[in-house]
Amino acid sequence: MRLSRYFLPVTKEPPADAEIVSHKLMLRAGLVRQTSSGIYAWLPLGHRVLRKIEAIVREEQDRAGAVEMLMPTIQSADYWRDTGRYDAYGPEMLRIEDRQGRDLLYGPTNEDMLTAIFKSGTNSYRDLPRILYHIQWKFRDEIRPRFGVMRGREFLMKDAYSFDLDEAGLRRSYLTQLLAYLRTFQTMGLRAIPMRADTGPIGGNLSHEFIVLAKSGESRVFYDSDFENLDWNESDFQYSNEDDLEALYLQVNSMYAATDEMHDETAWSAVPEMRKREGRGIEVGHIFAFGDKYSKALDFKLPGPDGEMITPVGGSYGIGVSRLVGAIIEASHDDDGIIWPEPVAPYKVGLINMRADDEDCTAAADDLYGKLGEAGIEVLYDDRAERGGAKFATMDLIGLPWQLVIGPRGLKNGVVELKNRATGEREELSPESALERLR
Ligand code: ATP
Ligand code: MG
Repeated sequence: MRLSRYFLPVTKEPPADAEIVSHKLMLRAGLVRQTSSGIYAWLPLGHRVLRKIEAIVREEQDRAGAVEMLMPTIQSADYWRDTGRYDAYGPEMLRIEDRQGRDLLYGPTNEDMLTAIFKSGTNSYRDLPRILYHIQWKFRDEIRPRFGVMRGREFLMKDAYSFDLDEAGLRRSYLTQLLAYLRTFQTMGLRAIPMRADTGPIGGNLSHEFIVLAKSGESRVFYDSDFENLDWNESDFQYSNEDDLEALYLQVNSMYAATDEMHDETAWSAVPEMRKREGRGIEVGHIFAFGDKYSKALDFKLPGPDGEMITPVGGSYGIGVSRLVGAIIEASHDDDGIIWPEPVAPYKVGLINMRADDEDCTAAADDLYGKLGEAGIEVLYDDRAERGGAKFATMDLIGLPWQLVIGPRGLKNGVVELKNRATGEREELSPESALERLR
């Protein structure tokens, strides 16, 4: 993509109401624009990041055996009346009336609708277990939208729903999602710690929040420093049977990590003093086994193997896809701007032509641009007639992993410069070698 044809409204100064670094950087780097309180338009560069994150989430859900579908954003209030949640949900729900006087709402979550849909399409225990998911916009009329896309009112969520015959099955589904979450966040270059979370009035003991450590985080957290050193290597993720899943759970569960609400002084005191860490974090995911709550409310029963009626048990599993864009920036930036981990970077390479008015420079840059494209490497090409200094500042701000710089002096010696955004390391090499390196 040529910057001369792109839409990248970068600014030097962040707006005064942006409090945290990710919000400031997202506005300065032209990723989003606020259109109403807590509602954002995703500009081209931000949209690419959102799509990359979504793709990673989707890939790991598919790998875990979850099946993708798509439910609408607008729901009939009847789905919620049927589960008894319509009145209980409160002012976070955006309620709408259509021209026929029917009550609609912009979905804040989908347990009610999905359970009804699933119930209407299943006939026997043989239809279980299933995990269904979608990636769809949600609306919650948050009392205090803030921190940009981190606590928006409209936000993109992956929400999955499992249905099983019994508690053992539910546990398997739950652990499968737990594992998928560990993989998902690691693939994005994020360290998200699974912390025991409140299961609310329904009880049961299976709920985890996935927390990314960050000073600006809204949750206060306590955790064992061993979590900082833990790498969920590919091998840790290979499980062939239920025992391996249980082993994974044991490993996660053996280390202390809890949010403020779940903090347990007795368990905490057992953690060696040197390994105790307190801090703040951002909730990027939440998984929850709720058992028969929605099945019971909707009288969802299926004939079991012996003809007796079985009430399916379930769980729901959320990931804040749009919140992750902010969370990743909180975890990966410096004074000059964003540092995208490669898997979520909007483009892999920023190609800078230092002198758009110099024929040789432009010819060399155009040539490299074409070759990078042919090699299937995603490149944003700054071909504008701007000062070199301004181009460098923009590239640092938008944080593409690699910068490839073409200037008249280097060209005379047959070299271009390749800069690694994360380390700042620069190297001069021939255009062919640079291409080879990026490949
Ligand atoms: P929070 O405590 O942050 O309000 P929640 O417990 O209400 O989150 P869930 O209902 O579990 O969130 O939703 C699943 C995920 O959706 C959360 O882990 C979070 O990443 C994301 N999320 C929730 N609310 C918002 C919001 N207002 N803006 C952006 N993302 C959100
Ligand atoms: Mg909430």
